[in-house]
Amino acid sequence: MAQIFCIANQKGGVGKTTTSVNLAAGLARIGQRVLLVDLDPQGNATMGSGVDKRALALSVYEVLLESASIAEAAVVPDKLREAGAGYAVLGANRELAGAEIELVGEERRERRLREALAPVLADYDFILIDCPPSLGLLTLNGLCAAQGVIVPMQCEYFALEGLADLVKTIKQVHANLNRELRLIGLLRVMFDPRITLQQQVSEQLKSHYGSKVFDTLIPRNVRLAEAPSFGLPGVVFDPSAKGSQAFIAFARELVERGMQG
Ligand code: ADP
Ligand code: MG
Repeated sequence: MAQIFCIANQKGGVGKTTTSVNLAAGLARIGQRVLLVDLDPQGNATMGSGVDKRALALSVYEVLLESASIAEAAVVPDKLREAGAGYAVLGANRELAGAEIELVGEERRERRLREALAPVLADYDFILIDCPPSLGLLTLNGLCAAQGVIVPMQCEYFALEGLADLVKTIKQVHANLNRELRLIGLLRVMFDPRITLQQQVSEQLKSHYGSKVFDTLIPRNVRLAEAPSFGLPGVVFDPSAKGSQAFIAFARELVERGMQG
């Protein structure tokens, strides 16, 4: 049965999508069956996986509105499969922004993704959900569907403050909508060890959150930032780059944690 993780942080530009696509590719490379769900109307995880968001026949929008199944709408991009890092993508584009409004009056509106995933749980080892930078109905669908949340964060001055809001939301969803949900861990991304402040915030994180801080550190690495313009995760675009190696190490860390229960 699939382990389902949201990649969430209500701040934009913190590395959610980069984490989503590279973790998906890293897990696929080590033999895991992966589905990546793009829940952001910007469609960056879709494009970054080599799927043209403007040419999607079916997307997560149709799935949330219950006019398509995930089996019908998910695609495995050839380029990823050929690179030995094939994973399935349930894509998103601007249409998805409308779903938030269209679902407002509907029943079970926050459970649409959870229900849509139920029939495919046996097909994957990991289902990763790339969340938009807000705590609205789309993110709520992600949090209701998942067992855990992975929070990518930059070690900057306000990082801990933003984290408190997210942890509160996770607790509320846990209490009211999804008893399975828990914080899996905090992933330090775009890390630059030469910056003293980043080291300090990293230490603060470890003293507040202990083992919830993943051992793997994702460095700032230009290859990870270049890869999306080629429609590829960094892990596929340049597997030997430091950032790509870090994401493969993170994929291993996650698989090992799972096996410890
Ligand atoms: P989010 O999805 O949270 O908005 P993104 O993953 O799109 O964030 O990242 C924001 C920007 O930072 C992008 O331009 C991305 O390429 C860049 N970026 C993310 N992680 C790294 C990294 N480890 N090293 C260098 N650039 C990165
Ligand atoms: Mg994003």
